[in-house]
This record gives sequence, structure tokens and C-alpha cells, in this order.
Amino acid sequence: MEEKKYNQTNVLIVGAGPAGLACAIRLKHKNPHLDVCVIEKGLDLGNNNLSGAVLELESLKNLLDAACPGWEKTDDAKKILEQKIVADDFVFLTKKRSFGISPFIKLAKLLHLGTGQLIHQGDYSVSISMLTKWLGQIAKQMGVEVLCGFAASDILCDELQGNVNAVKLVDQGLDKDGNRQPNFVEGEKINADFFVLAEGNDGLISEKFIEKAGLKRRQQQLYSVGVKELYKVTPEQFKKFGSGRVVHSLGYPLWQPLIGPDMFGGGIIYAGNDDHISVGVIVGADWKYHNFNPQDALTLFKEHPFVKQLIEGGVVVEAGVKMIPEGGFCAIPKDPQTGSIGKNNCLILGDSAGFVNMLKIKGLHNAVNSGILAADAIVTNLDKPKLAARGYTELVNKSNIYKEMLSACTFRQTVAKFGPTFGIPLSVLGNLLPKFTVEKDYEAMTTASYDLKLPIDFDKNTFIALAGTHHREDQPSHLKIIDKEICRLKCTPKFKSPCITFCPAGVYETVSGEVKPANPSNCIHCKTCQRKCPFDNIRWTVPEGGGGPRYKRL
Ligand code: SF4
Repeated sequence: MEEKKYNQTNVLIVGAGPAGLACAIRLKHKNPHLDVCVIEKGLDLGNNNLSGAVLELESLKNLLDAACPGWEKTDDAKKILEQKIVADDFVFLTKKRSFGISPFIKLAKLLHLGTGQLIHQGDYSVSISMLTKWLGQIAKQMGVEVLCGFAASDILCDELQGNVNAVKLVDQGLDKDGNRQPNFVEGEKINADFFVLAEGNDGLISEKFIEKAGLKRRQQQLYSVGVKELYKVTPEQFKKFGSGRVVHSLGYPLWQPLIGPDMFGGGIIYAGNDDHISVGVIVGADWKYHNFNPQDALTLFKEHPFVKQLIEGGVVVEAGVKMIPEGGFCAIPKDPQTGSIGKNNCLILGDSAGFVNMLKIKGLHNAVNSGILAADAIVTNLDKPKLAARGYTELVNKSNIYKEMLSACTFRQTVAKFGPTFGIPLSVLGNLLPKFTVEKDYEAMTTASYDLKLPIDFDKNTFIALAGTHHREDQPSHLKIIDKEICRLKCTPKFKSPCITFCPAGVYETVSGEVKPANPSNCIHCKTCQRKCPFDNIRWTVPEGGGGPRYKRL
């Protein structure tokens, strides 16, 4: 390797989530002499990380058994893995009632049907923000340079060679109108031999790279929106719910077959540490109701008698939203020539690659595993950076990631195409179904209304406070409306500006007759607006580093 210069590292990892940090830890374990740098847009480790989350331990164990023997005896590990899942319930909700459907899931497992993968017994209910913080500390102790509050705005490729040369950081110190202030600092370029893109879902740099490098997805990515609240309940209430218990639901308030709303998704209720219970709703972003807000679905879910009695008397202490990439195997971005998940010296990992198995509703284990495999491919190809993405892809194709993704290959597309009522049963046919394409999530929007009535309006201001989101107020808006006339002439008359309703942070408002991102500093970086504006008329760009939510236990 060449000697390190200023702003030069051997491996630059964009995103300090589980995938990026797993990669960093593995790299340092395999070759302590490598310079490894991780940049993260959040102010602190874990601040921008939100998930359910159910963790299959195996890949994390493989990583840490090799890199830090004895890890499982540390206080941090014991805390993070405190909630081993011992009770795993699946229920179907009607408006007033609940029906246990776990026996059907167990039967599906016995029959080796895809939905049998939904069993989570023996896994762990974890906080991804805490997990990420802990992995970041391990990486730092091993000598990885972890730089929080550093947001990347562009990726620079060498057009002749096809390699990535540098990642450019966002400019700091511009005012609202883009004028340079006395404290202006131009975003530096960080050069590296290898680039690892591990930004999570719909990463700005990952998507720019996919476009610049000409990577293609067989089917476009599909997304869902997950809204989560963390409740602190009394010890008695927690005991009633049960330590190590997770509950998943289908049905109300998203899906009432033939009589009500028709959306793919469900609810989650997970035990956490210290008498905390996570409550959330995940909904496919291909919803058709112009007036739908996933937070309303969460309110209705929490009001359902089955859920209400589990969180009675509890207080919400944190809240947040994220999108999940659900397109699966068909939506992995690949180089059309080589089939690589990335190109040459640039590798795409975890949620940025779309490694979420929708039959398990999990991707965390795949994210960690992809980090391990990326590191192994880099170490093997230290003198041949151009071969790294191919080496990584070969390892992925031989791994459990590939097997899992293949097993859930057409599940989400089938549900998107035929709706949950027919799509879920039809998905059993998998690849026997004739080939079809699905529309983009935003194309599903119609003038139909979501008619379930809320007991009270959702309080977005409290939600924003619970997400702890923060941005420097006097900076250019990072939310861009491409063509204002589309809002005025098409979206508002037809759909009544759905962004105002579905944005969980109340960013969009009508000001003097014009729909605009009036409160960009409220943004919690979920990217729903970028994927759900019915005219594909909004772009999420990156704000100054350190902005966004400040999750601690989500
Ligand atoms: Fe999410 Fe967009 Fe609203 Fe920000 S502005 S919170 S990215 S929907």
C-alpha cells in the first residue's frame, strides 16, 4: 500500500452503522496496519440508527469471536443482548379483536414454506442505536478513525479507470440563501484506495454511485416506512408483557381484507431493557391513500385493545421513523458487466445494497455479515483494488446472505403487485409465478382516502422532540422541490399535497399558497418524501454534518 498522505486513507467507510463498523473491525483484525476511516453524518454513534430490532446473533458472534475474544463477558455486551427472545407471538388484528396465528407460522416452518422464517425464538431484541455505539467503541479501540458529524455530499469517480477516487464532504457555513459566512469551510475530499458504502437505506452517496457507475437493479427498490416509539412502563407492566417477548401483528389498522384499508405491513411490540417496550408500525410505501400518515396507523395500533393493555400507563421516551428497503434479491444494485455489488474499488453493503430479508423482516444480521465479507475481499485484494467489488460479490454469493435473499426473491414484489389479500397467499408460488414488474412506490398514490378515524390528531411536535432532531437553522434547506409548478398545478389539486400529511416531522407546509419545506430543521432523515411524493418531485440532499435525529435507545 502507498504511504498515507493528508486526507488519504487506505479504506474509507461511509456510514457508521452495523455494516460499516463490522467492516472496520474486521479490517483492523485482519490487518492492523491498514488505515481505516469511518465517516458518519450523525452527531454521535448510533444517533441516526433506528430499527425494530431483532438480531440473529451468528454473524456478530463470528465477527467478535475473532476480533475481540471474551466480548460476550463485557458489561456492554450483556446489556445489549439482555433480551434473548423466549416468546415469539404472531397475531392477526381485526378492529376489536386479536387472533393468535403463531401455529400457522410454525406449520409453515415445518413445511419449509417461506413464511416459516418469521420465527424469532432464540434471537435477540436489541436497540440498534446502542449496538452501533458499542461497535463504534470497539472499532475505535482497535485503531479505526471514526469521525462523527462528517456528512458526505458526493462521490468522485475516475471516468477512464472506473475507480472511485474520493468522497467529498458537505460544505459547512453557508447561510439559508447559500452565501458563504465567515465560518465557511469547503467540504474536503477524502481519498482512499477502497471505498465502502454502508449508509443504510437509500443512502445519498450510494445512490449517486449507483447512478455514476451505471449499476442496475433488476426491479426497482421498494420501501416501507417504520414508525417506532419507545415506552417506559412500570416493572409490573413489563412483567405482564414478559421479558424476552416479541409480538408481530398483521391486519388492523393497515389491512382489513375486503372491508377496509388494503396496505401491506404490520405492527411490532418488542421487550427492551430496563422496563422499556418498543411499539411500532411498518407499512409498505406503496400505499394508495393520499391522506395517509404512518403515524396515524401507529396511533390506531396503540389504541387497539390488544396493544393498549400491554402499554397501559407507559410513557413514550423516544420516537423515530426510518424507511426500509424491501425489494430484496431483485433490487440489489449490480454492475451489468460483472454482476458485482459495487464496482472496482467501491463496495455496497447492508441496507444500502438492500440486504433485507422480508420473509424474516430482518436485515441486521446480513448487514454485519456483508461488513465481514467486504473486509475479507479488501484484505485479499490489497494490491488489486479493482478486483475488490468482484471478490466481495463472490463471497456474498457463497454466503447465507445470498441463500436468504434468494428464498425471499419475489415475496415483496408479489404483495406489491396483487395487494396483501391476494399477494400474501400467491407469494407461496414464488418463482412459479409468471414474470411481472412492479410500479414505483410513489406511482401507487390515488385519490382514495384512508377512512379510519383517529381518537386524537397525532402530535408531530412532540414526536420531533422525542426524536431529538437538530440542525443548524441558518443553512440552506436540504429538502429540494424540483418543480414548484408541479406542486401547484398537479399535486395540490389532485392529491391535496400528501407530503404535508405523511412527513412525520411536519417539514412541509403551505406558505402563501405555495407548498414548501418550511421547517427543514425538523427533518428526521427518514427520506419518505423522496420516495413517496406522487410526482417524484422532492429530493433529500445532505445537511451539514451532525444534523438529524439523536436516537439513543431506538
Ligand atoms: Fe422524512 Fe422528508 Fe419529512 Fe425529512 S422532510 S422527516 S426526510 S419525510
